Amino acid sequence: MLAERFRRIRGLAWRVMDGIFENMWDYKFVPVEIISRDSNVEEHKVEKVLKSLSDEKLIELKQTEYLGGAFTFLGLSLYSLNRFVRKNIVTMLGKKMGEGKESMIYNCISKWGEAVIKFHKVGYPSFKKVREKRDYGDLHYTVLMVRSAKNEFNALKKLYGKVSVPKPYGWEGNAVLMELIDAKELYKVRLENPKDVFDYIIEEVREMWKLGIVHGDLSQFNILVNPEGIWFIDFPQAIDLNEVETDEELRMAEDILKRDVTNLVNYFNKTYRLNVDADRVIEEILH
Ligand code: ATP
Ligand code: MN
Repeated sequence: MLAERFRRIRGLAWRVMDGIFENMWDYKFVPVEIISRDSNVEEHKVEKVLKSLSDEKLIELKQTEYLGGAFTFLGLSLYSLNRFVRKNIVTMLGKKMGEGKESMIYNCISKWGEAVIKFHKVGYPSFKKVREKRDYGDLHYTVLMVRSAKNEFNALKKLYGKVSVPKPYGWEGNAVLMELIDAKELYKVRLENPKDVFDYIIEEVREMWKLGIVHGDLSQFNILVNPEGIWFIDFPQAIDLNEVETDEELRMAEDILKRDVTNLVNYFNKTYRLNVDADRVIEEILH
C-alpha cells in the first residue's frame, strides 16, 4: 500500500514537499510563498499541488492570512522514503513488519542488502525538549517525529560496534534505516539460561552508560534474542549524557536508567524466578 502510494506521487509534488521539509523547523505551516521560493515552482502550481496532496491526506493545509502546508505522518514517511530512494540507498520497499502507536516498520532492500526502515510517529518529552521549545517556539508535530528519528539514529551510531544494536545505515526525515535482525522479542522466548542472559544484558547496559547513552524504554519488548545473541532496539527516547547540562538533568538521566534496570529485573525475577536485587544492579552500573 505504501509502495503503491509512493509510485503515484509526481516530480512536482516531491519538489513541493522539499519546500515544506526545508522550512518545517521555521513555520508550523509553511506558506505557499516560501515553498514556491525554495522549490522554484510557481505559487499557483504550488497551491494546486498542495490541494491535491491534501486530498490524498499527505499534507495538512491551513488557511490564515496565507495558505500554508505541513506534512501528515503518511506524507512525511513517503517523503522520507523518497529521500532514501533518490540517493539510491533504498531500492525496494518490502512488507510491513509492524505498525503500532509509535512507529511503522517496513522490510526493504537497501544498498547493503535486506534492511529495516522505521518510520517514527511520535516525539518524546524530555528535558531537551523543554530547552528546544524555548528556542524554536511552536512546532508542528511532524517535526517531533523527525527529531525522534534523528535521536534514534544518533544513539545507534554511538553504540554500534561497542554494544549489540542493529547497524544504523541512514537517517532521512522521520525514517531510520538499519540492519535487519532475525530474532524474536525477549518476551516471546523461553530462555534456557536466563541468569546468563540477564547478566549479559546488564553488562551491555553498563557499557551504554559508560558510552553516555541511557536507553530510556528498556524492556522485554525492546530486546531481540536468537541463539546467537541479543540486540537492543528502539532508541528514539535515548538520552545522550554529553548533552546533559545541569545536575538536575543528570539526576533525571540516572532516574531513567534506574527505571530501565528495574523493568528488566522485574521481568526476569517474575518470568524466571530469579532473585535479583535491582538496587544492587544499579549500583554496579553506576560505579
Ligand atoms: P511500536 O509502537 O510499533 O511498538 P516501537 O516504537 O516500539 O513501535 P521498535 O520497538 O523499534 O518500535 O520496533 C517495533 C518492532 O519491529 C520490534 O518489536 C521488532 O519486532 C521489529 N523491529 C524493529 N527493528 C528491527 C530490526 N532492526 N530488525 C528486526 N526487527 C525489528
Ligand atoms: Mn518497541
